[in-house]
Amino acid sequence: MKYKGHAHTFYPLVPPDKYFAGHPEWYSLLKGKRTHDHAQLCLSNPELRDFVVGRVKEWLRESPDAAIISVTQNDWYGACECEKCKAMDDAEGGPSGSMITFVNYIAEKIEPEFPHVAVDTFAYQYTRKPPKTVKPRPNVIVRLCSIECNFREPLDHPSNAAFLADIEGWSKICQRLYIWDYTTDFKNYVNPHPNWFTLGPNVQLFQRYGVTGLFEQGAYQGFGGEMGELRAWLLAQLLWKPRQDDRALMREFLNGYYGQAAAKPILRYLELMHEASKDFYLACFLRKDPPQLHFQPLMEAERLWQQAEKSAARDPELLARVRLSHLPVRYAVLSRWVALRRECGEQNGDWPLAKSRKVVAEEFRQTSAGVTGKPWTVVGVLNERGLNVEEFLKPFAVDPPEEDMPMPPTRGKRPM
Ligand SMILES: [Zn+2]
Repeated sequence: MKYKGHAHTFYPLVPPDKYFAGHPEWYSLLKGKRTHDHAQLCLSNPELRDFVVGRVKEWLRESPDAAIISVTQNDWYGACECEKCKAMDDAEGGPSGSMITFVNYIAEKIEPEFPHVAVDTFAYQYTRKPPKTVKPRPNVIVRLCSIECNFREPLDHPSNAAFLADIEGWSKICQRLYIWDYTTDFKNYVNPHPNWFTLGPNVQLFQRYGVTGLFEQGAYQGFGGEMGELRAWLLAQLLWKPRQDDRALMREFLNGYYGQAAAKPILRYLELMHEASKDFYLACFLRKDPPQLHFQPLMEAERLWQQAEKSAARDPELLARVRLSHLPVRYAVLSRWVALRRECGEQNGDWPLAKSRKVVAEEFRQTSAGVTGKPWTVVGVLNERGLNVEEFLKPFAVDPPEEDMPMPPTRGKRPM
């Protein structure tokens, strides 16, 4: 099945550099001015609607094997505030009113020529809330996006109540409800991101609400994403059969992929990070300092991975897998080095790795360069913006000065 367009197709369909000068009224009215800068389309404009119908037909004639075409808002806000758009949105309780009305129109007009094609649109950010009375036509797909959610908890947790209300609303009015779900931290692909135990409950929740299409977006730009292999396998299993026991699947994966001896400390690591992140709002674009990356849990995590490496030491294949999966803890250690060293001193704690940041950075460089003959061990980019390993390590070429470490880091030296 071919998905024509996939996402954010408003401007590819109606390129502003080609059409804004002649038709400013096709674009959003923002603060009293027609603009295409971080704007959307004026969805109530009849001429624009028919133009998009023509463009969609053009795209479909170019791709006769397409079964879905994406007519989706740009990746920012900026919904049109003109009188007609605003009236529609006010009546429907939000901008999904004008969006679904617009997409319904396109879907109705293309149906005679393309009866096998569905028109896909987003319920994303400003359009996430379902409309009050307008219903998507049977040949319209609504892709509801979970981008704002707390991924530490399942989607039916109180912290995700607004999303739950939206999925419930859409499930009542939409015959083809799809989900775009976010399974990683897009600001730090290689960082402990304890959402593992919510993946299973969430897939099951989607099934309960009649979801028939699911896009589980992970660290998609290369290898080395934190627990990426576990996530990919677990989600594939759950997409196939959602009612499986997700914890049993995870144990099966850890045993099979890392070997039974290494699987134990790794499972403990998952539980430890999960417990340490209790009450933290785990966003998929991390902005705050998360508790699971503070000194105690992180150093315990480091010890568990060292134990896993030891357990896998005699098998080069298993060792390569364990080493790659150990990197996220090191990534967090390097990123938070000065704060962690201070915490270590304050808590009179043990420091289970080299005391030179430069040395730890060099180890990170070597592991992320990968193992010859195993391309999946080469770490790609470290976040969605494309940060590479060398750029990440650059600030760590020199060790921080002593005054950043007010307390002696080793146990027993601290005056009582
Ligand atoms: Zn408008």
